Amino acid sequence: MKKILFVTSEVHPLIKTGGLADVSSSLPKALTALGQEVKLILPNYHGLKLGQIPNVIALFRIGRHTVQLLETMLPHSSVVVWLVDCPEFFNMAGNPYVDAAGNAHPNNAERFALFCRAAIEVAMNRVQLNWKADVVHCNDWQTGLVPALLSLEYQCPTTVFTIHNLAYQGLFTGLTAALLQLPGQLLSPDGLEFHGMISFIKGGIVYADKITTVSPTYAQDIQTPELGYGLEGLLIYRDEDLTGIINGVDGDWNTEEDPLIAQNYNSSSLNDKVINKTALQARLNLPIDEKVFVLGLISRLVEQKGIDMLLDCLPELLTLPLQIVILGAGDKEFERRLQQFAAAYPHKMTLIVGYDEALAHQIEAGADVFLMPSRFEPCGLNQMYSQRYGTLPIVRNTGGLADTVVDTLPETIANHTATGFIFNDAHAGTFLEAIKRATLLYSFPEVWRQLQVNAMSRDFSWQNSAAQYLELYESIE
Ligand code: ADP
Repeated sequence: MKKILFVTSEVHPLIKTGGLADVSSSLPKALTALGQEVKLILPNYHGLKLGQIPNVIALFRIGRHTVQLLETMLPHSSVVVWLVDCPEFFNMAGNPYVDAAGNAHPNNAERFALFCRAAIEVAMNRVQLNWKADVVHCNDWQTGLVPALLSLEYQCPTTVFTIHNLAYQGLFTGLTAALLQLPGQLLSPDGLEFHGMISFIKGGIVYADKITTVSPTYAQDIQTPELGYGLEGLLIYRDEDLTGIINGVDGDWNTEEDPLIAQNYNSSSLNDKVINKTALQARLNLPIDEKVFVLGLISRLVEQKGIDMLLDCLPELLTLPLQIVILGAGDKEFERRLQQFAAAYPHKMTLIVGYDEALAHQIEAGADVFLMPSRFEPCGLNQMYSQRYGTLPIVRNTGGLADTVVDTLPETIANHTATGFIFNDAHAGTFLEAIKRATLLYSFPEVWRQLQVNAMSRDFSWQNSAAQYLELYESIE
């Protein structure tokens, strides 16, 4: 059994801004189910949704700051959560990274440096808890200083650093090094320095024993200039220690028990899925039509997700006999342009701006295909939810999308492995062609049904992924 300290800046359902929160909840639970002892450590943000008042279990100093360590449980689990309480850094409005106006908190470097130092005190058993970590598993730039600073410690635990999205690196001006009093030996270009700046994510990439990303293809993608953000050389250098492990899917996404959808179904009762289609049409004031081809999209509306490609497709797409349902929020210009199309074609397209968990489930259950034309995608979740829901994903050939969707080709139809549609180039034309390919196959109900069955029988469980992480922990000398 390993003692694992899982260091993260967000965890569902306590606080969430993105996919990291889902992984931080599901992976520790799945590792616990595999018999490991996982403690999760997180800043005690002002906005945490805590069911009960946590207990104070330790008190210590980091530089001139007094830190309390609080203990609570991850809801519906036996995972212990330790909260690093330092009100001057974490008791502020906004989300963990930005203020209410959407600007990065000006002291983010100090905030997350303190969090990292607190995690190290805990991992090294220096806060009188009588608990020392065997493995410290860090996630994204907010935790990058942990492997860096731990590398200077005697008899330190082994470290794993997971990159959930390399687009965010925690870059701060060179002056930050002095402000944070970082040891000089960490500051060279072989260390945290990055073109005159300090890069927190380099702390993870340079110093962790093992590095992971959230899909094997993304592990390759970040070793290219297109997606490496200038870190590709370093990532190539560390290639032997870099692996991709696909995220699993949460149990809430289960067509047989989903309380949020109109009609439960499974791969033997796929005829019932259409009830979800008509319920969705009714809810969104679209013409009710069991036969019409319904395309769904749920996403942050940002360039990463290929929303511009979709916009370029829409003039032609909307001449076809289909319906498009989009749920998302993000870039105001994307929202405005999508809304223009929805207003011009009210019988064919609906845009719901906002974040709506229930509607997300209803779209997954009610649509025939799910659009995910991402320019890059470290792992992606919706393409996996879609397959579980028998809603075939149309995805670009990148990152986790490439690893989790099997393109529909004559041979994959024949051997019952096809689960969706993949296109290569990040162009509206190739995306449109993939949608047309799907439209054509939709007119062959028996083939379509088989594709749905193939998709629904894929195993995207966390058990599977957690077993791979455990193997990785055990592989470190
Ligand atoms: P990313 O983390 O890059 O945004 P993922 O596909 O990994 O993309 O995860 C996105 C998660 O957020 C999924 O669970 C998706 O269903 C959910 N989501 C995104 N936008 C919305 C929205 N507007 N309403 C409800 N759920 C959303």
